[in-house]
Amino acid sequence: MTHQAIRHIDGHFGNICPKAQEGIMVKGRFAPSPTGRMHLGNILSAFLSYLSAKSQGGQWLLRIEDLDQGRSRTEFARQLEEDLLWLGLEWDEGGLDHAEYCQSKRGEIYEHYCSLLAEQGLTYPCWCSRADLMASSAPHQSDGRVVYAGTCRPREGFVPGENGVGFYAADGSYRDCSRKAATRIIVPDREITIVDRHYGPVSENLARDCGDFIIKRADGTAAYQLAVVVDDALMGVTEVVRGCDLLQSAPQQAWLHETLGFEAPAFAHLPLLCAHDGRRLCKRDKSLDMGELRKRYTPGQMLGLLAQLSGLIQGSDIRQGNDSGHGRDSKQASDLKRIIDMDNPPYMSLEEIIPIFSWSKVPLDNIVL
Ligand SMILES: [Zn+2]
Repeated sequence: MTHQAIRHIDGHFGNICPKAQEGIMVKGRFAPSPTGRMHLGNILSAFLSYLSAKSQGGQWLLRIEDLDQGRSRTEFARQLEEDLLWLGLEWDEGGLDHAEYCQSKRGEIYEHYCSLLAEQGLTYPCWCSRADLMASSAPHQSDGRVVYAGTCRPREGFVPGENGVGFYAADGSYRDCSRKAATRIIVPDREITIVDRHYGPVSENLARDCGDFIIKRADGTAAYQLAVVVDDALMGVTEVVRGCDLLQSAPQQAWLHETLGFEAPAFAHLPLLCAHDGRRLCKRDKSLDMGELRKRYTPGQMLGLLAQLSGLIQGSDIRQGNDSGHGRDSKQASDLKRIIDMDNPPYMSLEEIIPIFSWSKVPLDNIVL
C-alpha cells in the first residue's frame, strides 16, 4: 500500500499539533506489538513519534499492544523496551511494568465501550467464516482492502432459522449461528475526513471504502480498531505518529472516537521503508532487526542513520552527485536512495536532533534503502 492510493493534497501541514495550539500538553505514543524483535521500520516510527512529541515539549508514552495472545510474548516486550533505552528513547509513562498500559490487561475497559456502542444500536453479531468473507467481499478497487459486504447486518426480511441458531440472510442463504460470533459496528455512508499532519487531508466513505468492521473478535477479545481508539482517548494521547500503512484506518478511527464521544487525536503518518525492488521491509529482513543493527552501529550512529532516513539531515556534506534541490516529489526518493549512507552514518545525539526535527523534512514517498 502506498499513500498514492489515497486522495491527498501534497504539502506541509504544520509542525505544531493542533492540540498544542489550543494549549493542551502534547502527548505522543509508541504502541508496538511484542511479536518479535523490532526492525528498522519500527524503530523509525518510535524515533519520529518521540521527536514529534519532544520537539513540542510534550510527553511520550509506551503502550504494549499484546492483544494477540498467540503471538505476543513478554520477553519480546522486555527486549523492545531495552532496545528503546539503548537508543535513548525514554518514555514518560507506560511500559510493561504498568499493566494498565498493556492491552491484554484492559479487556474489561474495551468490553465497557463495546456495550456503549451496542446500546446505541450500532453493533451486530457476525458469524462469517474467513471463507464466507472471501466469497462475499470484493477487494477494494484502490488498495486491495477487503470491504465487508454486510452479510450479517440486520435488515428487513430477517427470518430466524427453525432451530433458533441460524437465520436466512437477505440473499436467501442460511447463516449458521451456532458458533461464537464476532461483533461488527455499523458505519455511516458518508465521507469522514482527517487532516494528517504529514500527508494532508484524507477522506474516506466508511460504508464504501471500509464496510462494517469488527470491534470484538469471536473469542471475546477486543479488535485492534476499538482497543486503539479507547486507549488513545483514555490515555490522553493528542497525536498518533505511525507508518502510513495505517493511514487508511485514520478516518475509521476518527469516526470511532467521535461515536464514543471522544475527541480524536491528531495524526501524522510516516513513509514506509522499502527495498530496491519496492518490497516493504519487514521482520523477515533479519539484517535490519535491532539485534543485527546493534552489532553494526553504536547508539549515536543509529540516531544519525535514523536522522538521515527521515530526511532531518541531508546537507551537502552527505549528498552525492548533482543533486538539485529539496522537491518533495518522486525524485526525492531516488535522491535519498543515493545519499543514505548505511555503512558509515554520522554520530548524532537526541539533543542535536530534537531542535532540527520538522515534518516538512520527512519524505512523503517510501524510503528506499
Ligand atoms: Zn458476517
